[in-house]
Amino acid sequence: MRRWRHYVANEIHSYLSAVPNPLPLLRTLLRRSLDGFCAVAFPAACPLCGEELSFTRGIGICNACWLSLNPWRGAICDSCGIPLASEIVGEIYLCGACRRNEHYFDRARSYGLYSGHLREAALQLKFHGRERWGGKLGALLIHPWRQLAGSVKESAPLLAPVPLHPSRQRERGFNQADLLARGLLLELRKLKSAALPHFEPRCLRRVKATAPQSGLHHRARLENVRHGFSASAERVRGRDIILVDDVMTTGATVSACARTLKQAGAAQVIVLTLARATPQFPDGAMPPGEPAHRVDGMSPAQT
Ligand SMILES: [Zn+2]
Ligand SMILES: [Zn+2]
Repeated sequence: MRRWRHYVANEIHSYLSAVPNPLPLLRTLLRRSLDGFCAVAFPAACPLCGEELSFTRGIGICNACWLSLNPWRGAICDSCGIPLASEIVGEIYLCGACRRNEHYFDRARSYGLYSGHLREAALQLKFHGRERWGGKLGALLIHPWRQLAGSVKESAPLLAPVPLHPSRQRERGFNQADLLARGLLLELRKLKSAALPHFEPRCLRRVKATAPQSGLHHRARLENVRHGFSASAERVRGRDIILVDDVMTTGATVSACARTLKQAGAAQVIVLTLARATPQFPDGAMPPGEPAHRVDGMSPAQT
């Protein structure tokens, strides 16, 4: 039943996508009616909470789950954006890693914590072939982008997803970071943003097939991605780069990308990710202000 529902929805969606420009409103209305119709005719469960869907937000998530994908509003490291366990928002903090100058990127921000429904959404996008989620989740990157847009000097910086190795991309069929970057771009176009990045997925390539980073500690992660990327000097020389990925943990992958981009002449590398994993807020959706484990060098009291 679920397969049929997706088949019918995909067929009609691809037909509607071909409708030329003068009908955007009609297209939106038809899409909404189609989602509503499919939800009633072919009831399915929300992949995040398991509740039966009566109304969806276009990608098959129930309304309550979509609204629960909250951005992080607590204290963060001013440089790498890692959420910090401090009740004081607005102070300028630097985490231990940034004070030790461990990252090659200039600044980074994430939409929210890698926990709860946002974590589940990121996992579903990556491992359950939910490509249609990419654009919608990518639109959420507008929040972290707004925090850093002021530090980008170019009016049309390059927008680049963290690449997958071709063998991994063939196996998965898509690159989730690529889908997120396209979602952000679409949202910026929709909002008629003054600074519209230029999508340039070819400026960075992954040249080494590496083991997945999950489960590795920081040093092993750094070693795993060392010399793993190659950048096109012709494309990136003197440019500001907005690098997009789904999840940032220690920052080893995006830092390795930034290092490669800067060696190729990039002026600045800004990182945007959907979710940020940190031991300060392990999965369990701990809101800011509640007691959290302090980890090495990250206590706001010391910053
Ligand atoms: Zn739900
Ligand atoms: Zn930091």
